[in-house]
Amino acid sequence: MKTTVLPPTTTPLSHLLPSDPLLLMGAGPVPIPQAVAQANSVVINHLGGLMDSVIDRVKEMARYAFQTHSDKVLGVAGSSSAAMEMGISNLLWPGRRALILQNGTFSNRFGDMAIAVGAEVIRVEAAEAHPITPEMVRDAFKQQAYDVVTMVQGETSCGVLLNQMPEIIQICKENGCLVIVDAVCTLSTMPLKMDEWQIDVAITGGQKGISSIPGVSMIAFSSDAWKVVEGRTALMPHWCLDAKNAQNFWGDHQYHYTAPVPGILAMHEALRLICEETLEKRFERHEICSLALQEGIERMGLGLFVNPEYRLNSVVAIDLPQGVDGGRVRKIMADRFNVEISGAFGLNIIRIGQMGEQCRSHNLFKTLYAMGMAFQQEGVAVSVSEGMAALQSRLAEDPLQFVS
Ligand SMILES: *Cc1c(COP(=O)(O)O)cnc(C)c1O
Repeated sequence: MKTTVLPPTTTPLSHLLPSDPLLLMGAGPVPIPQAVAQANSVVINHLGGLMDSVIDRVKEMARYAFQTHSDKVLGVAGSSSAAMEMGISNLLWPGRRALILQNGTFSNRFGDMAIAVGAEVIRVEAAEAHPITPEMVRDAFKQQAYDVVTMVQGETSCGVLLNQMPEIIQICKENGCLVIVDAVCTLSTMPLKMDEWQIDVAITGGQKGISSIPGVSMIAFSSDAWKVVEGRTALMPHWCLDAKNAQNFWGDHQYHYTAPVPGILAMHEALRLICEETLEKRFERHEICSLALQEGIERMGLGLFVNPEYRLNSVVAIDLPQGVDGGRVRKIMADRFNVEISGAFGLNIIRIGQMGEQCRSHNLFKTLYAMGMAFQQEGVAVSVSEGMAALQSRLAEDPLQFVS
């Protein structure tokens, strides 16, 4: 029985969107600057001369963000996961072996992607709330050799920083393999030196540290990684993610697929703001804000999930006191205070993002206050005023006075 499908009753989006949208203080997406939002509303010809110069500038600014001289810097029409999949599927195929360093959702995802392209996968897993250590990687190399090692600089899902990443990469390079690093959460929030640390593939998304829109990502290949891309004879399973195809557009201004023009223009503005601010000042802003927030949370009487030694500043994981429902706390924060933070994938934590535009003092005060009041409403004896005072006094020490 086939009947015609009639149009549903429609409502313009403007009727659905609240006039005062939720402040996005979760693990991404994050608020975007006005210049990024404006760029995101423009469509131009993706193969015209104007786009050519936009692409050249995006690449140049991305080279600064990644700290690389590589000219194999490509954009991806897709989520950060698509950029991860691009790294995986260009360097791995049946007969190749990957070592996956994992301690959460995103680092594990690399392993699933590597299996999907037919590679042999060996996983090393860190203890809960801990990073992978150089010793664990050395041990893995005692067992056998690998073609590729994958790792995540900041594991957003649990708030753990891979604090010994340069040492770990060095072990991988001494053993002659290529290194893929996911810097989706961390790029431009803390140091990452692609060339100096010898990263072969560096990946970032739009909606986290960069403070652009979701759905347009960046990936950079070292010359060693590019040799593997060029020398590959195995079938490439993903036409859209084939780096050689993508280089037609990103290197030679030729057609690959229709580029996500507004998202690339938005990425241009987000990267431009990073260049204007400079990485050094941006790292400092992130550190000052996140440490002040962490102190405020602790002084309020709540615990942090990760040891300070390898605590990720870009996403702060907060322990839920016994018997407290994180979903209810987050709902109160959203309904009463218009602030959104994140839950977690299976852990007893809630998470506050400190990426890009989230690191502004007014956002910190609003979020900490909302969280404290929500915990109080749920019967937890937190001291909102002590937490707020700690946040205020830490931010008052800010030498750059830029967190407004
Ligand atoms: C968010 C995130 C991803 C995935 O990003 P999507 O854009 O959702 O695909 C990957 N890695 C890390 C570290 C992330 O924080």
